[in-house]
Amino acid sequence: MPMESWRSGVDVAIIGAGAAGVAAARALQSRRPDLALALLEASGRIGGRARTDHPAELDGLAIDLGCGWLHGARTNAWTAIAEEVGLTVDRTPAPWSEGGRQIEEKDAEARAARAAVNGFFERVYSYDGEEDLPLSAMLAADDPWTAQVHAVGAFMTGDELDRSSVIDLGQYDPGPGPDWRIRQGYGTLVATYAAPLPVHTKTEVRRIDHSGAGHILLSTGKGDLKAKAVIVAVSTNVLAAEKIAFWPPLPDKIEAAARLPLGLANKLFLKAHRPEMFPADTHLLGSHHSRRTGAYQLKPFGAPIVEAYFAGDLARDLERQGMDAAFDFSVAEMKRVFGSDVGKHLSPAVMSGWAGEPFVGGSYSYATPGAPGLRQVLATPCDRRIFFAGEACSPTRYSTAHGAYESGVVAAEAVAAALI
Ligand SMILES: Cc1cc2nc3c(=O)[nH]c(=O)nc-3n(C[C@H](O)[C@H](O)[C@H](O)COP(=O)(O)OP(=O)(O)OC[C@H]3O[C@@H](n4cnc5c(N)ncnc54)[C@H](O)[C@@H]3O)c2cc1C
Repeated sequence: MPMESWRSGVDVAIIGAGAAGVAAARALQSRRPDLALALLEASGRIGGRARTDHPAELDGLAIDLGCGWLHGARTNAWTAIAEEVGLTVDRTPAPWSEGGRQIEEKDAEARAARAAVNGFFERVYSYDGEEDLPLSAMLAADDPWTAQVHAVGAFMTGDELDRSSVIDLGQYDPGPGPDWRIRQGYGTLVATYAAPLPVHTKTEVRRIDHSGAGHILLSTGKGDLKAKAVIVAVSTNVLAAEKIAFWPPLPDKIEAAARLPLGLANKLFLKAHRPEMFPADTHLLGSHHSRRTGAYQLKPFGAPIVEAYFAGDLARDLERQGMDAAFDFSVAEMKRVFGSDVGKHLSPAVMSGWAGEPFVGGSYSYATPGAPGLRQVLATPCDRRIFFAGEACSPTRYSTAHGAYESGVVAAEAVAAALI
């Protein structure tokens, strides 16, 4: 849609072209082709936290800097969409699932650490107390594997155990099925699905004025836009930082977003110069004894790379220190298994920096203790004309790209019903 047509306004403005905003716009387009839509995206790119790059340092290989796994793949809406748009769903088992490959699978220490982690998750999932608690309350006393539980907990929530809620993690349910991947990248999938949409990139929404009865007025970096309804599909950290000003203010939404912050996970991609050193699609945990450890996916799809994954405080520190520091950290951890020379056969290629992404500000949402119910508060529409979507709105599939998708469809259905 050309910008000039904004002068007459649109029926629905969708803010944010991540998985949720794209899903909302596609669902509206098919349910209500009579409505004029505008999908407004602050950055220069579609996909948000779904981001596939093809860096020259890795010879143009498709790598996902954000989401990579189709969790709950059999019922994950993106699986069917990938097939529909002609992308390839790779069904190699994820390292943590049945048939998945771990480098130390049979190692006694690794097994004991895994058992401790499983025990922790059983306590979380069976917790039925009324009072919400920090996840650290579920640690077993005198457990020699506490550091490992801390590390795995941080991979899940993106933050440390003492900051996130037991009840929230106990409600997490990505759906049945294994975890699969898309060869061309999860980010490619979301961007491909957005192709028929009227997307306006580099269009940051700064203010939403809903004081008038007739229409909502959006102030954007490219001028003002009138809309009958708005779907806000930005991250909780963007909302909590009040990068979008609501008039009149919506303090419940801002508080909900602040108590559902984004944890941090970052990926570092290493180029393997002697790829035969590493088994394909195999997983290595950097340490079983330190809570500050990375997870390493060796040769994903058989490609000559290593994908390192850091979460929580470690991810924060390494993002601040930069890619060379993250590389040194990874090499030091990989020496344990691959010997002291491993660093000579690797070089750093690309690293994500999600905390510093101005229109995202982190990786995936978790609830602080006492806040799981705020996911519903965040998702509830205002006056049947301001609707909210995004992964954090999903009570069970938060933190995922398919939870984001589902929240977008729910918002679209509510808009379709409201605009009759
Ligand atoms: C390292 C990492 C690994 C992950 N791994 C997985 C995984 O394996 N599987 C999985 O399912 N999920 C994973 N996730 C999480 C998943 O990527 C997210 O949950 C999902 O992509 C969020 O989508 P969203 O639409 O809710 O938000 P976003 O992707 O954040 O989209 C919001 C959009 O709004 C835009 N925006 C912000 N402010 C404004 C404004 N003022 N005006 C206009 N536009 C604005 C942003 O630029 C962005 O494009 C991972 C995330 C990260 C970072």
